[in-house]
Amino acid sequence: MSMEFLRQLPGPEEVKEKYPVSAAAAAKKVANDRAIAEIFNGKSNKKVMLIGPCSVDSEPPVLEYAERLARLQERVADKLLLVMRVYTNKPRTTGDGYKGMLHQPDPGKKPDLYNGLLSIRELHTRILSDYGMPTADEMLYPANYLYLSDLLSYVAVGARSVENQEHRLVASGMDVPVGMKNPTGGDLSIMMNSITAAQHHHTFQYRSAEVSTTANPLAHAILRGYVNRHGQSLPNYHYEDLTYLVSLYEKAALQNPALVVDANHANSGKKYAEQPRICKEVLHACRHNEAVSHLVKGFMVESYLEDGCQKIGEGIYGKSITDPCLGWEKSENLILDIADLV
Ligand code: PEP
Ligand code: MN
Repeated sequence: MSMEFLRQLPGPEEVKEKYPVSAAAAAKKVANDRAIAEIFNGKSNKKVMLIGPCSVDSEPPVLEYAERLARLQERVADKLLLVMRVYTNKPRTTGDGYKGMLHQPDPGKKPDLYNGLLSIRELHTRILSDYGMPTADEMLYPANYLYLSDLLSYVAVGARSVENQEHRLVASGMDVPVGMKNPTGGDLSIMMNSITAAQHHHTFQYRSAEVSTTANPLAHAILRGYVNRHGQSLPNYHYEDLTYLVSLYEKAALQNPALVVDANHANSGKKYAEQPRICKEVLHACRHNEAVSHLVKGFMVESYLEDGCQKIGEGIYGKSITDPCLGWEKSENLILDIADLV
């Protein structure tokens, strides 16, 4: 096999020992998780905003963003629950490009998985313990979930992973909400099957163990738009898409029907500045139709300190090196506007 062994990586227990969660931070996570669960199980009418950069690339601008988000959370606490996107591993369409902090803790340097594992844990720990913010990440590599399992308050299974059995089985063992994205081709039955799988218990192989899970009743849908066979991005957040998903849920006999609308990716065609309009159109649909209003639990927004994106090496502080993001000022306005509308 032409794979060269480079070095042994530390296991989850070793990394957790190095960056432990304080009792205060663990208690904060319990409170955060309860508040998020109440949105997804319908006990609370608040909406959730999964907001933050497409990828976290370096600690200082990400922590500055977390601090701003934590202050804003206080202003909208009666309407919205803000969960910060702290996305540390990135799926790449062709395999090329920045694969996230896990692979490159310094985006300008070569891959370094050893320090990557430490960096992603340190970052999630600091955002919870220093700012009290709940964090979300994508589960791209199910085996790595244990490195962050005591920190994450929300997990997304991405459009390129949602049909994968291991992702679905591991999601069935999480005690936080897991959002299943529609696949890049837009087939909603794949997404619904993934939610069904995660809402049931399973026995399977995980890492080097035989494990069994208890089922995850908070597994739910994320609509992120799709790409047609000509490679064109098409949205799936419009009124008819939302009522169609209501009908799919009616037929599916799933627990806690819920939808998060991803306002970027193929829904915006990565025109990041469209995200506020998209969120507001969805809220308009909610006002028009009670079933849609119950289904829509919130939004996913790609947002950072600066508008847009840059190439690695340009070095602009707080500007995305993956998908283009909404800058801070527009993001703050969006959150305040949504708080007024829900
Ligand atoms: C993302 O959320 O940044 C992402 C990669 O999403 P998707 O899986 O929808 O492409
Ligand atoms: Mn993205």
